[in-house]
Amino acid sequence: MGDKTVHSESYQAKLCFHITNSGRLMLNLYLEFSNYRMRRIWPIILFIFFASCGRNTGPGEKIITVSIAPFKYFVDAISGGEYEVNVIVPAGSDPHVYEPFPDQISRLRKSIGYICNGYLGFEMTWLDRFDAVNPTMKKLSLKDNIVPIIPDQGTNRSHLEGADPHYWVSPKCAMIMAKSVRDFLSGLNPAQAEKYNRNNAALTEKIGQLDSLARELFSTTRKKIFMIYHPNLAYIARDYGLEEIPVEYEGKEPPPSRMKELIDKAMADSIKTIFIQKEYDRRNARAIAGEVGAQLVTIDPLSEDWMKSTTGIIDDLYTSLK
Ligand SMILES: [Zn+2]
Repeated sequence: MGDKTVHSESYQAKLCFHITNSGRLMLNLYLEFSNYRMRRIWPIILFIFFASCGRNTGPGEKIITVSIAPFKYFVDAISGGEYEVNVIVPAGSDPHVYEPFPDQISRLRKSIGYICNGYLGFEMTWLDRFDAVNPTMKKLSLKDNIVPIIPDQGTNRSHLEGADPHYWVSPKCAMIMAKSVRDFLSGLNPAQAEKYNRNNAALTEKIGQLDSLARELFSTTRKKIFMIYHPNLAYIARDYGLEEIPVEYEGKEPPPSRMKELIDKAMADSIKTIFIQKEYDRRNARAIAGEVGAQLVTIDPLSEDWMKSTTGIIDDLYTSLK
């Protein structure tokens, strides 16, 4: 095992060679580019590298790759921890523009299944390349059984992906997702279908309780409108009769005219809370909050602990609407 670091004017490349337990040689190529242009071309270098390697999945290795951390929660709960889950976009990163690291691609190459969102920005760029790296893995797009929210053309399109990708935050959608994951796992390993069925039933019961709680809470709130920096809660809004006002405009920082509109809207609707996600810049949300005397509340919809994060979001939303 050794480390060798190569320096050049435009980039640094770190090559790490690991001897695995089974004695196989695994090459992890880790490139740290010091300029943006090089960062743009490393996917091509990696693609050539991994496409030229043979498969080397060892016996007993069972990996499922998922696009975002909350999907891991569903795989873990339904499989009972049977799989190692390779998360492409870790909590704290932006799934609209994320670029995977080499070790993630390496585990993707050894995966037997891939679970994608279907609408996320980074998937538009990467899913075809993932396919080329691992053409035999089975795929599940969780969007397939979800009724999408498609923003009207010409209105504030905060996502350029066609449909709003954040369905996983709504308990109502999560019950559908759980069923899709159960069916997918049963297809990968029919011998364990009964176990997946049982685990899914237990999970769905817990999600169902959260769904009932959300329905009950949001039907009683005086206010129905909330403001959020990045529109992460559109499906919760749709599924529980609320209205989401995003601060972002067309996926970018709002121009001054939009900021003024938002401040007026927050005043008119007595908005006292502005939600923001860990991944986003707080300046604009803080400016509006300052103008209208609202507080900023950070939510974490990309957390790996879906239940805790979603319960927290519902609780915070309810508190802001009371
Ligand atoms: Zn988003």
